[in-house]
Amino acid sequence: MRQPSLPTIKLLFSRSAGLCNICGQSVLEKDVVIGDMAHVIAHSPDGPRGLRGQSGDNSYENLILLCLKDHRIVDRKKDLYPAEMLLEKKRCFEENIKKRIQFDFEYDQDLTSLNNLFIYIPIKKFYGMVSDLPFKISINFDAAGIFQDYFKDDPTFYPFRDSKLTNYWDNLLYDMHKIDELVKGYFSGDKFITLEERMKPKKAPDDMTVIHCTYINEGGFMYMNKSVFNRNQRDFLESEMTKLVNIFLENYHCFIKYIHEQYRTVKW
Ligand SMILES: [Zn+2]
Repeated sequence: MRQPSLPTIKLLFSRSAGLCNICGQSVLEKDVVIGDMAHVIAHSPDGPRGLRGQSGDNSYENLILLCLKDHRIVDRKKDLYPAEMLLEKKRCFEENIKKRIQFDFEYDQDLTSLNNLFIYIPIKKFYGMVSDLPFKISINFDAAGIFQDYFKDDPTFYPFRDSKLTNYWDNLLYDMHKIDELVKGYFSGDKFITLEERMKPKKAPDDMTVIHCTYINEGGFMYMNKSVFNRNQRDFLESEMTKLVNIFLENYHCFIKYIHEQYRTVKW
């Protein structure tokens, strides 16, 4: 009986990653093949799962990669292993290999992206940077700018292949944006105006207090100069900022926890 063609052998071994389609053991030991390309329909009509008047060929469709032990079992207990079942096992096994390779590839890409991101963004220090708001904030509390400049438009980086990771990251950026909006906002009397609203082309009120200009830079932190604000303004800032920081910290902890669980080898 002729051997399967070289393309058929390549196809069979590569799609199964060199593993037995039943037990998953490798059929290769160093450079020796210790498994078989078993026939689903035997070459001889009298062989396992043989068909009268027909002989199974050496095509990829009629072969399944098995270890020696499983080859012996399926051929001896042929009633327990009909052709349809073997073909289904092969289909599922090859499908799983494909999914696994795809998953590993995407996982590695996300891991590389996170490692690169954390070179620029000191994510683990974020908690200490904002936990004393509105009275104190680190001048390094920034992810959006760095992300925008280096990563956002790079399709190999973002969105992450893991949609959950993308979701956590987007939430974090949004929360940081809201905090930034408040710090860079204005008061006109007791009315709060965001930077965005301030930039709209209309006459600015005369009595503007710019919030971020009231912070004093010292040792990497900006300290709020409380004396600039009246009681109502201070109350507003404190309550709004507390709300935003709490939301941020909640999402921040979710993000950190998710990375701890899913990307254990990340460098940060
Ligand atoms: Zn096996």
